[in-house]
Amino acid sequence: MSSQRHYDPYAVRAQFPILSRTVHGGVPLVYLDSAATTQKPDAVITAIDQFYRRSNSNVHRAAHALSAEATSIWEGARARVARFLGAQRTEEVVFTRGTTESINLVAASWGSMNVHAGDEILITGMEHHANIVPWQLLCERTGAVLKAVPVLEDGSLDISAIDALLTDRTRLFAMVHASNTTGTINDVGALCAMAAAKGVRTLVDGAQAVLHQPVDVQAIGCDFYVFSAHKLYGPTGLGVLWGRYDLLDAMPPYQGGGAMIQHVSLERSVYEAPPLRFEAGTPHIAGAAGLGAAIDWFDTLDLDAMAQHEDRLTHRATSIIYQVEGARVIGEAPRKIGVVSFVIEGVHGTDLGMLLDEQGVATRTGHHCTMPLLERFHVGSTCRVSFAAYSTNEDLDVFERALTKAVRMLR
Ligand code: PLP
Repeated sequence: MSSQRHYDPYAVRAQFPILSRTVHGGVPLVYLDSAATTQKPDAVITAIDQFYRRSNSNVHRAAHALSAEATSIWEGARARVARFLGAQRTEEVVFTRGTTESINLVAASWGSMNVHAGDEILITGMEHHANIVPWQLLCERTGAVLKAVPVLEDGSLDISAIDALLTDRTRLFAMVHASNTTGTINDVGALCAMAAAKGVRTLVDGAQAVLHQPVDVQAIGCDFYVFSAHKLYGPTGLGVLWGRYDLLDAMPPYQGGGAMIQHVSLERSVYEAPPLRFEAGTPHIAGAAGLGAAIDWFDTLDLDAMAQHEDRLTHRATSIIYQVEGARVIGEAPRKIGVVSFVIEGVHGTDLGMLLDEQGVATRTGHHCTMPLLERFHVGSTCRVSFAAYSTNEDLDVFERALTKAVRMLR
């Protein structure tokens, strides 16, 4: 562990206009729902605003100044993402609508070529539905079988089960980098190495990881890595699929339409090379302007110091929750991102969420799109607090008071 570094969340926070608003007629907002979506800094809002004010045009198709600007914003963002992930080639970055679409793309396209009846797809017991359902659909289509690595009581993966689960029929191991429900950080480098040793392809769902730590796809050694712009301080509606170029190049198109073809006749079409092959139709160009700005902004942070700060918040939130009689935190793995899920005996999660909200505290209650994981812990829903670069100790002061009051009212 590196030494303690100074981190000023207030300087970060000052760049997020939404965080100074009030809710319910004057109650200051305390935003503890960053795992659902992060708020956006001025730099991102300005980049999107400037795109529509100055450069709005369609990409790739016209010979005029605005189109050239829009294309350079779109392709510039791609290059930015490639550097952010440590990709070997910019062409390895495919823009999608989000993590969900990126996984569906791989399942539909790569899956159609590589997965057949009797084959196996391995996932983990802590996946978001976005990394479960596309594989179930693929299994239904092909007759393949979906298997899952069990989750231990502390919320970490049962690594000892993996070797037996990676069989000679396993085609892909799809795993979450960090859980949106328990916060568990998986050692994806080690998991990918286990898979690669058996010739199994890997996909890492980085939706919750990218905002908390640097990501290097070469160091991880995965074949596909996916994330959503909106969880990385960028806009909604844009996501990334990174894939090794040789794999992308061997994959058939996911959707057909404009921009993904070299030539079309009424008899047949010739497709573009990756990444354009997978980007049919007019894309979310303003979104790319925002994502490029988000990554530039994120790069200005001291990520080590930020991670230490988030860690302190996570530990403090856990102790605050345990002060409440009958509280149980779901997932206390040694390595966690800033996510704490909990249940309180005799208190209904939805009621708790509403009473916290009345006091300005935005949390999330429900199954967090991880029903199998909650089932494993024998709970139907949890209340979840989650942090990002702008979260502060004062947020937790308010949370502590609000939680005490809400529980008192509900019991
Ligand atoms: N995977 C994880 C771990 C997530 O937390 C989420 C969203 O919460 C997703 C996938 C789906 O992301 P999106 O809805 O942006 O496609």
